[in-house]
Amino acid sequence: MSLSIPFDNTYARLPDRFYARLDPAVVAAPSLVRVNAALARALGIDPDALAAPDGVAMLAGNHVPSGAEPMALAYAGHQFGHFVPQLGDGRANLLGEVVGRDGIRRDIQLKGSGPTPFSRSGDGRAALGPVLREYLISEAMAALGIPTTRSLAAVTTGEPVRRETMLPGAVLTRVAASHIRVGTFQYFAAQGDDAGVRQLADYAIARHYPEAASAENPYLAFLNGVIARQANLVARWLLVGFIHGVMNTDNCSIAGETIDYGPCAFMDAYDPGTVFSSIDQHGRYAYGNQPRIALWNLTRLAECLLPLLGDTEDAAKAALAGFAPVFEAAYFGGLRRKIGLQTERDGDNGLTGELLKLMAEGGADFTLTFRRLCDAAEGPGGDAAVGALFMDAGAYEAWAQRWRVRLAMETESATAMRAVNPAFIPRNHMVQAALAAAIERADFQPFETLLEVLSRPFLDDPLLDRYATPPRDEERVLQTFCGT
Ligand code: AMP
Ligand code: MG
Repeated sequence: MSLSIPFDNTYARLPDRFYARLDPAVVAAPSLVRVNAALARALGIDPDALAAPDGVAMLAGNHVPSGAEPMALAYAGHQFGHFVPQLGDGRANLLGEVVGRDGIRRDIQLKGSGPTPFSRSGDGRAALGPVLREYLISEAMAALGIPTTRSLAAVTTGEPVRRETMLPGAVLTRVAASHIRVGTFQYFAAQGDDAGVRQLADYAIARHYPEAASAENPYLAFLNGVIARQANLVARWLLVGFIHGVMNTDNCSIAGETIDYGPCAFMDAYDPGTVFSSIDQHGRYAYGNQPRIALWNLTRLAECLLPLLGDTEDAAKAALAGFAPVFEAAYFGGLRRKIGLQTERDGDNGLTGELLKLMAEGGADFTLTFRRLCDAAEGPGGDAAVGALFMDAGAYEAWAQRWRVRLAMETESATAMRAVNPAFIPRNHMVQAALAAAIERADFQPFETLLEVLSRPFLDDPLLDRYATPPRDEERVLQTFCGT
């Protein structure tokens, strides 16, 4: 089986100052953890060839395949609100782009592939834990139907990386609609490089927002498009209890995908203030803050685009004002569907809001409450199981009576509810257990099993109950780490 990847690169045609060309680092002893066969096929790549020695060498950075033009991309970014004029790919290498069977162009990037001119004090490497974590959670997000970068493969390098302890090194192969970030625009804007901003915007329009090209003001249409995609994305996150954890502007994708999985996690008990990331000490990126932060990031994008918008700050402001209605329609519409309401009536937002309030007060598990509500939608026989998730079952039952009155105005709720309320999410304690087995015992079975469970999030399976169940007190994972 010969390895052939149909590269068709466009970012490499942009000016030199957009990136630094360099090959990935060579590592000691590449070993395959996993190839995502379905994704490979969708990209027109033979998964068997990827899993063969040449393929594994490529996935580890030891072999640069024909047609690749390896490079680290330049970008800047606000990290926890503080501007850093140069970040860039400090541990990643973009091999090139392929156009998939669906006609969509995607980047293929190695993450953990060695130092680059953007590494600053970092070693350019990735440890196995964060690589497996990104693999699991990005693929879980994809299965939930949420826009996200994907994971094509994971390999170990045979080399240790030094973090707080020595850990096995690994490389993730990431597939993304592109790696253009809000921070990429900031990189050029901060240098007063208006030509760079314009070239980047033209490129992003052609690649991600082709319809904007024919608008009266293409750059404004582009800004509106990014705002709409981000508003929808964050709404989708909230509806499944996802917390990104590091919503810096350099981790905000212009294409509207979830990108840069670090200390991200899914919430168990519903609490809008939930924070997992060890470095987010002030809760800037807490669950409930995510819409506000997305808008803050988009405001930074709008600032970069001002010179292209014809100096009308008002136009940018109007575009940013468009965030809230798009977000609210997606979020409140999504909440309504989570409780089985396909139509929209007065009082619906009050009903969902009241449930969330009761969940917060009652310490109810977010995912399981909505999943069990699917059964309760078929009749009050399902109420006890939902009520058991609340400290005070009576509070839920009073709400459920009002809910049933409203539900009676709908047809066929339970099936539709089961298609939007997952049974399986990557619960932190299960993710952690899978990672620990891989790191401590080189046992990848728990990782494989969890991945399999998460690939069918909406299908009940009583045999897999422990994957659907919230952690017991002693199993609870309260903190996650960047681990870079
Ligand atoms: P992140 O918050 O993980 O998206 O990373 C922020 C910045 O730090 C990016 O510019 C990364 O390329 C860089 N970075 C993270 N980890 C490393 C590492 N181990 N070596 C070099 N650069 C890194
Ligand atoms: Mg990042």
